[in-house]
Amino acid sequence: METIPCNLCHHESARLVYEVEDTNYGQPGVFSIVECSHCGLVYLNPRPKASEIGAFYLADQYHPFRAIQQTHNIRPNKMQRQRAAKIAAMFGHGTGGTVLDVGCGNGLFLLAMQAHGWQVQGVEPNETAVAFANERLNLPVTVGDIFQISLLESFDLITFWDVLEHTHSPKDVLLQANLLLKPDGVLAINVPNWASWERKLFKEQWIALDAPRHLYHFSPETLTTMLNGCGFDLAELRCAAPVMNPASNLLRFLGNARRRARPTGNGPLPGRAAPGGSESPSAVKRWLIRATYLALTWPNFMANVMRRGGSFTVFARKRKAEV
Ligand SMILES: [Zn+2]
Repeated sequence: METIPCNLCHHESARLVYEVEDTNYGQPGVFSIVECSHCGLVYLNPRPKASEIGAFYLADQYHPFRAIQQTHNIRPNKMQRQRAAKIAAMFGHGTGGTVLDVGCGNGLFLLAMQAHGWQVQGVEPNETAVAFANERLNLPVTVGDIFQISLLESFDLITFWDVLEHTHSPKDVLLQANLLLKPDGVLAINVPNWASWERKLFKEQWIALDAPRHLYHFSPETLTTMLNGCGFDLAELRCAAPVMNPASNLLRFLGNARRRARPTGNGPLPGRAAPGGSESPSAVKRWLIRATYLALTWPNFMANVMRRGGSFTVFARKRKAEV
């Protein structure tokens, strides 16, 4: 473990917000989430070092890795297709471009970009995911992180879909992205929203705390400040969190409350109901899931409108060099 200063302003004074366990995967340890007293950035401190963090990504349980292993249908999902279509429109349909997807997982977002005529490249730490992208999708994806990409390369677009919060120094990552972007290049980022109603409601039980894998928790304000400091101008910031986010949180919360009420039951271990991680549910459970989605559709829409949805997406442009 290591203790660190704030990644955004380098101050060391911070207040404790939550003490949490790994409620998503049940790994041992208690982790402190703190808020910088100077700039408001929220981060895990102390935290596992870069050399230790791998132990907290269990290849057979971690949801994104399981999703990779269980992928039979090699088609980008709806969100990946929507993101690709939006970006293609942003750059002008038919013009194409070059994209680097950092933490690209199985590469399906890159496949969606290829369909719009883009030249694609990806980098991803998980070897199984890289093998899938190489062998099944024939995509140029390499094992590693953004620091393994040669500075001789340059891109029109660099994307971080639910990745920046996992990095040990988002500031260094963004500075590196700046170096790798062409003049006027665009950065696209999606992160969980610390300022969300969901986080304020579920507190220590918020699924997106995901300690100790999420090392940083951004609000629209702290991410914007960091981007400005790393040579980017904000082009667009919007909340478009799917209703699955609050629904998963609420269902897990209800499940945990039920288990607490019946502590002698032989049910599954508490706190493992990460989205997508369960076996096929009974008819009653399926009805409950559907009813929860339905009930939360309107509140989730309103939260997104108010920039208080469970996650947010940012598009930022590389700032022109001053002359
Ligand atoms: Zn700070």
